Amino acid sequence: MNAELLHEAEYYQVIDEEQQIIKCTLCPFECELGHKEKGKCKARMNISGKLYSLTYGFTKMQINRIEKQHVLHFFPNSRAQTFMTYNCNLDCVFCPVSDISQVEPETISGKKYPPEQAAMFGLASGSRVMVFGDSEPLVSFEWVRDTAKIAKEKKMKILLRTNGYFNEEPFKEILEYVDAVAIEVKGLDNDDYLRNCGGGNFEHIKKIMKLIYEHGTHLEVSLIIHEKNINNEISAGALAHFLATEISPDIPLHLERLKPAYKVKDLQPTSKDLMEEAFKMAKEAGINFCYIHGIPDHPENNTSCPKCGQLLIKRSSTTTEVLRISLDGRCNNCQTEIYIVMK
Ligand code: SF4
Repeated sequence: MNAELLHEAEYYQVIDEEQQIIKCTLCPFECELGHKEKGKCKARMNISGKLYSLTYGFTKMQINRIEKQHVLHFFPNSRAQTFMTYNCNLDCVFCPVSDISQVEPETISGKKYPPEQAAMFGLASGSRVMVFGDSEPLVSFEWVRDTAKIAKEKKMKILLRTNGYFNEEPFKEILEYVDAVAIEVKGLDNDDYLRNCGGGNFEHIKKIMKLIYEHGTHLEVSLIIHEKNINNEISAGALAHFLATEISPDIPLHLERLKPAYKVKDLQPTSKDLMEEAFKMAKEAGINFCYIHGIPDHPENNTSCPKCGQLLIKRSSTTTEVLRISLDGRCNNCQTEIYIVMK
């Protein structure tokens, strides 16, 4: 193992000092590891009884409009610098970035970015928002936290996109450094998670969503939909019902169209009919803001006031027009406060 790769990790316990057995406590898998064993995510490894992060500093970078992240109520129409870290604690059949989420860290080419340097890239790009996402940032917990901390001190706004399957203690810590979290829900029960992602627990992810909201951090949620056993209109209705009744009907819910990728390359994209049926069920369950993604220029990508129906933000695949909403997030027509971060 190249020592350059290693950064001592946090969130682990020594189980047997003599046998050098430790337990990673970052996510609920709580992998028990002997010397030279990697966890399920492949990003963390026991070396001589200490846990090391193998992905600290490895990242790909992109600059885009924030709408590309399918997060629509957080600094709309802003430039966002995205950091895509490596590896993931889940292995979802439909993962669109399996080339970075399922690698052996020893095979990653390219240089490592210390947190100070990564944060400076974000600032120099003129981006308002720094995003950690696209794969699963939290298996690189220490680097994401260290980078977010510096970027926040420099007044950037931080968005974390995660599957949410992490333990409460590290999650509470990361919430101190982020302004918004987008949770990507993969299924509505544990069978869905096991079948499509190799593990996970929806009850746990529900607790994490509540934790984020109660902490006062902006929350948005997405759900992938497909005819072939990967969530449907009933799942969309059930998730919307949970959000509306147990968190808030204002949480934006993003319905994602599946695109052929990774282990489902042979599937057709989700039909427009199913996406629209799922949208209808989610709205009927009482959610105020629901969006369809993956169908270019679909009208259900706009934001309207839930009280008076005024069109507030109009979106196409390439543009966002902020029309009738004030900088403090109120509908210009009826003054209703909208769940949105504008400044
Ligand atoms: S973060 Fe990785 S090593 Fe740690 S418990 Fe989760 S899967 Fe296992």
